[in-house]
Amino acid sequence: MNLLNRLHTPPLHDYRKPSLKLNIPKIALRIVLIRQSLGLTVSEGDSAKVGPPISSNETKLPPRAKKRRFAPIMIANQIPMRRRKEIEKALEEVGGSPTKWSRNKGTKNHVFMRKRIKPGTIRHMEYELLDVEIGESWPVPISVIHGSRPGPVVTLLGAIHGDELVGPLALTYLCGPNFMGPEKVIDASVLAGTIRIVPIVNLPGYRRMIRDFPDGRDLNRCFPGKPDSNTTSRVAHKLWNNLISSSDYVVDLHSAAKGRTNIPQIRANLAHASSNRIARSFGIETILDSEGPRGSLRRVANQEGIASITYEGGGSDEADPESVQISMYGIINLLRSLRMLPGYPSKPRFRILASGSVWIRSDQGGLLDVLAPAGSFVEEGEIVATITDPELPGTQHDVISPIRGLLISSATHPFVNSGSPIGHLLPVKRGVSTLKKRLDDEGCLIISGSDGEPPWREDEEIEDIAVFGEWSGGSPDAEWGPASSTDEEEEEDN
Ligand SMILES: [Zn+2]
Repeated sequence: MNLLNRLHTPPLHDYRKPSLKLNIPKIALRIVLIRQSLGLTVSEGDSAKVGPPISSNETKLPPRAKKRRFAPIMIANQIPMRRRKEIEKALEEVGGSPTKWSRNKGTKNHVFMRKRIKPGTIRHMEYELLDVEIGESWPVPISVIHGSRPGPVVTLLGAIHGDELVGPLALTYLCGPNFMGPEKVIDASVLAGTIRIVPIVNLPGYRRMIRDFPDGRDLNRCFPGKPDSNTTSRVAHKLWNNLISSSDYVVDLHSAAKGRTNIPQIRANLAHASSNRIARSFGIETILDSEGPRGSLRRVANQEGIASITYEGGGSDEADPESVQISMYGIINLLRSLRMLPGYPSKPRFRILASGSVWIRSDQGGLLDVLAPAGSFVEEGEIVATITDPELPGTQHDVISPIRGLLISSATHPFVNSGSPIGHLLPVKRGVSTLKKRLDDEGCLIISGSDGEPPWREDEEIEDIAVFGEWSGGSPDAEWGPASSTDEEEEEDN
């Protein structure tokens, strides 16, 4: 922090250190909170036992609160007219549930990797990313939870980028004894449908603590892959055929690329009806309407008619506890919304549906002091960061927000050049008072699911705050990549 700046021109925000360090005790505490708010007992060793367990025999739900906690909020859907029509048309064309999910037909075995998984059971197994007879085949752990009732197949993926650890943590906790098993929130005997969980897809990258595969390629640009091409493309092809093509819904968990952090957010093509549905069902405020870069899992899955969304939270090489917690809540919300699990999903108080954003960039080089971290609601002209230069002591440059809006991403690496992105801002023109009601006393958005209070709300009561514009460079992250590249394939980080 810069004390001189404080004394002369007090910044609107206090200096806040982003809470992004690996903090396992904090995560453990949050798990207790999540379990309590889901009405589950806490296992031995946890601090307290709270709430009735969800029993496999007794799936009767508590009644919905009759009295609305909030006056209905007017829906202000202001996404640009042309895009709105595309989205509305896509939603109109949706039919009913496929007959294969019909409860009348009974449940069949789930066949995965030539193994038959009986209804109402959980199998933990290994899945080999490469077909080889000698050498490393990269076996990744996969858990298959096959419900006792028919329903959709949901595939949950973490660490397609090996250094993004929020996904692996969230999925590992969900597969653990606190959340999975008889009378837990994921109970195969009450589940309708099938959940397949792969906490670490890019195992070789994860072990090397790097984003890409060992051949230097980004798996999330290689879908649907080819069987006779490069290593990463072969992995993509095998995953596509064995895991993705047989899924009805795919949730892909990511974090920001090195040097920055994202607030928890969903990215989805809102004109893809079933993806739109699960994007909203995740229960968080920020949804970016974006189809994803070429070769990304989300884009290719949508092209093949499979619902797919990307969750982004925190940064790479770190385990932001809030992002872990929110993604766990989101997955449970999604499964409840699809009627695969008993219980009511929680909903946010409003949603920001964004079709465009603005980048805040530095005009000077030096070392950065971030005053408004990701999640801050900033005003036009507000100082969001200061830059000092160790080679020119006493000099300082302020980075100003060009407009009012919500910072959904900010730099975490202090070194900047002129032109370096400092923050990624969603301009907010309407719904400002709604949004401001959900700011903490430091001016940061309190994201639904982060405060351990799942409110049961009807979808119609949520105000949509639309953000106008276009993704510069064609996608939400196009401008953060290397300066030499202008190809969005190289740049979007998700
Ligand atoms: Zn990623």
